[in-house]
Order: sequence, then structure tokens, then C-alpha cells
Amino acid sequence: MHFTLRNVLIPRQTSVSANRGSWLLGISLTCVLFGLNMVRGADPEEGSPSDSTQPMSDSSAEQIPSPEANRPKESLYATIAAREEELWQAALDIWKWAEPGYHETRSSQRLQGLLHDAGFKVSAGIAEIPTAFVAEFGSGEPVIALLGEFDALPGLAQDAVPYRSTETPDAYGHACGHHLFGVASAGAAIAIAEEIKAGRIQGTIRYYGCPAEEGGAAKAFMVLAGAFQGCDVVLHWHPSNRNAAGARSSLARIAVRFQFKGAPAHAAGAPEEGRSALDAVALTNHAAELLREHIPDSARIHYVITNGGQAPNIVPETAEVYYYVRHFDADVVKRLYDRLLLCAKAGALATETELVVDYEGGIVNLLPNLALSEVIEKNLKQLNDLKYTEEEQLFAVKLQESLLKQEPISDIREVYDLSGIVGPGSTDVGDVSWNVPTAGFNTACWVPGTPAHSWQATACGGTSIARKGMHLAMKTLVASAWDLYQNPELIAAAKREFKERTARQSYQTLMQPDQKPALDYRQLPADSMH
Ligand SMILES: [Zn+2]
Repeated sequence: MHFTLRNVLIPRQTSVSANRGSWLLGISLTCVLFGLNMVRGADPEEGSPSDSTQPMSDSSAEQIPSPEANRPKESLYATIAAREEELWQAALDIWKWAEPGYHETRSSQRLQGLLHDAGFKVSAGIAEIPTAFVAEFGSGEPVIALLGEFDALPGLAQDAVPYRSTETPDAYGHACGHHLFGVASAGAAIAIAEEIKAGRIQGTIRYYGCPAEEGGAAKAFMVLAGAFQGCDVVLHWHPSNRNAAGARSSLARIAVRFQFKGAPAHAAGAPEEGRSALDAVALTNHAAELLREHIPDSARIHYVITNGGQAPNIVPETAEVYYYVRHFDADVVKRLYDRLLLCAKAGALATETELVVDYEGGIVNLLPNLALSEVIEKNLKQLNDLKYTEEEQLFAVKLQESLLKQEPISDIREVYDLSGIVGPGSTDVGDVSWNVPTAGFNTACWVPGTPAHSWQATACGGTSIARKGMHLAMKTLVASAWDLYQNPELIAAAKREFKERTARQSYQTLMQPDQKPALDYRQLPADSMH
């Protein structure tokens, strides 16, 4: 989930959020990075306008104990502090390995090892995914779960320097900070386990090792395999260029590859004998570009050509285009997908090629939970102590020279409230959130203004700036979990809200029946093999 492009306001009250179709109406889009402002009208595909001026629903956050009563949290922080160096080394290992989705063998093992050594019972191979695992410690209720991710992104390898280092431009890099995400959640889980051992926390802590967030949708398969059964609440976080919390949503997404098969021929000598698969891709894309005018403004369609032929003098026999379709309402995504499929069929029809549809499935939007988000936000605000050293300041200023827009470094002192916002990215945490009350937050692990999925994000991820952000994330996770363990009424409120939100619309997976994880959706490049 990324908040680097633009944010969309959604109403805060639970009754409206229960109707996913009404989230986006009469809203304004605010481009955080590019400074664009657009005002949207009501979209006929998305239901009737909703009232965004309603007060927030009853807050349960007031029930969080006073700072004096929070003193036992110091013991959790002490565990984290004692293990901080070890955890940072684990994050650095995963950052260096930078493994592609579903190929995160070493990263997954590293995290499993940390948890196993801390006494967790580890079950790997969840949902027939070799790198997916669940680690559990403790017994009885409540069962609080933390999510962890650890996959990297192609073409974004980068050293921890504030200028582009391009020795291995095709290699993978942790440009989304999942090395921090995975390790911080593990560190938090271990600290909570220590409190369970000491008898200061009653209940169970679970860690979900979730591979292939970047397009692999592992969590959706883990949900369908029943891996999240028995969880009372799920907490997660994500590295970012700023600190943020709040009940927010994300975009549902479908991924599909259109493969075309034609007939090869000498492109100059006998073009009439050829049927170009690349032409089919070109026509599909042209039709999709025209389609854009007739879809909801808030939808997103994007593609890359993953196979466009081998040589200009050969009519391409095969070609492939890889599409994403996104919208905050999963139903709209489904309808748009059907229309995009017509574009691909038109491409095949006109070029006399054969279309093969490789549907990779989809992930749904995040279902917000105000009750949980308020617990997290309060803790994040209390704990945020981020401050750069002189050296970090120099790194930040130098790195910002490469960014289109510079945000003030002092931004790291802030905690943004993103309640009522639809983040412009997609995350498979969405599928979890429709099955268990779920909430997350961001900490500033990257220099302010750094977009996710950039070499600058990879660079920051290997520095003490990321280390500080990761430390803040661990403390926020354990503090929030502590509040939930100690105050059953907070969990009850989260569950009540979840029930209200899902009463009118229950979870509908965007996976097809019997769909399997695309374990080979990322090729393992030679330069990232170990
Ligand atoms: Zn990410």
C-alpha cells in the first residue's frame, strides 16, 4: 500500500464504509507528491453520494490506559532494544538478498529462524506456497496476529548511497521496504512472546510470513486456505516516507496476462504469410486506451509488454501484454476486467491470432477498522521520536536532489491521520481485512518525499534512517498489541465494527475457483541467483 501518488477521501463513519460502492463519491483527490488537485463528481457506476461530514463513530481509544498504566510497555521496548542490532542485521541480510516474489527462500528462512529460536512453533508451506509460513507463541485468547512481508522488486537494485548506483540495473531491490516490514513484525512478535513467557500477557501471538506481496497476492491464497482462522485481530505496518495511521482503504486489483499466438514469417520477404502476435498486443492496447474515456475516473488500468517478439525481420509468433485493473470497489474491477477482456478478444480477432488468457487473480480493497486504527494512531503519536543525525541529514538532502519534489525533512516529526482515505495502491492485506478486523500504519523509513518503488527507497532501506523507522514500527506494534491484550473491550469494539461493515457486503474473493498461486510470476534473474 503506497501513499506516494494521491489520496482519495472517504467518509469515516462505519455505516457508509459498509457499502464499498459509496466510498468515493463527491470527493476530492489530493496529489500528495505532484501537487495536483482534482474534484470529482458523482460517478454513476458507484452508487449514490454519501455524507462525509458525519462525526466519527464512538471511539474506543479513550479506553487505552493512561501513560502510568502503560509502564509495562517499557518491558516490551526493552526487549526490542536488546535485540535491535540482531534484528537490523536480519533486515540488512534480506535487503541484500532482495529476492523476487515466491522465490524468497533465504529471506523466509531467516525470519522463520528468528521466530523459531525465540520459541515460536513455525508451520511453513502455507497454501502450497513454499515461502509462506505462520509462527505462533502462547495459548488461548486473544489471538493477535502480525503480518510480515519480504519480497523485492525487479530493476530497483541500489546501494545505500544517495545517488543512482546502476551496476546491476536489472537486479531486484527492496524498493518497498519489505525487508523492514518482515523483520520489524517478527521483532515485535518476539517481544510479545517474552511478555507471555513472563506471565504479563495472556493469549497468543501469531506472525504471518507473507510472500510475494508485489503482485503475487499470497495473502489472498493464505486466506482461502483458512490460515487466518482463529485470529481475533490483525496488525500490520508498511515502510513509507512519513509516519501515518488511520482507518483507510486501498484499491482492489485484478492482474491478467494476454498471450497471443500468431504465425511467423519473413517480415520483408513474405509478410502476407505472417500473423503478428505483436499486432494483437498493439490493438489490445489501443482499444484499452480508448476504453479509458468510458470508465470511472477513479479506476486505474496499466500494462507492460512482456513479450514483443525477437527481431524486426520476423513476424512475431508470440507476444504478451500484462495488465492491472484497479478501483476501490472490487465489483467495479470485475466489470472493468470483463470489458478489458473484450479489447483483447478484439485484438485477436482483427489479427487472426489466438488469445490465451492467463488470469492471475485479484486482491480486494482494504476494509478499514476505526477502533483498531485509533489504538495504533495514539501509540504512534506517543512514540514518534524520529530525528536525523547530521550524517543522515546530509544523506537526505543529497538524495532529495534526485526527487521531483522535496518535502521538508522535519516531516518525520509528524504523524499523519489518513482516516477516510483510499490509498492509490493495492495490497493483499485487503483480503485479510475482510476476514479478520485489521489495521495498519506507516513509519518514515525513507527520506521525506521518496516514492515507493524507486531506487531512492531501496537506497534508504539500507541506511540508519530505515533502521530508525523500523524501530519505531516495532514499538508501535508492541504498544498497540499490549493495549489490545490488556483491554478486551477494544477487541470487542473492533469485532463489532467489523461485523457492521461486513453485514451488507461480505468477502468476495477475486480469485477464480481452484486458482493456484502463480509461483513463477517472477522470473529469477541470473544476477539475483545465489
Ligand atoms: Zn509494499
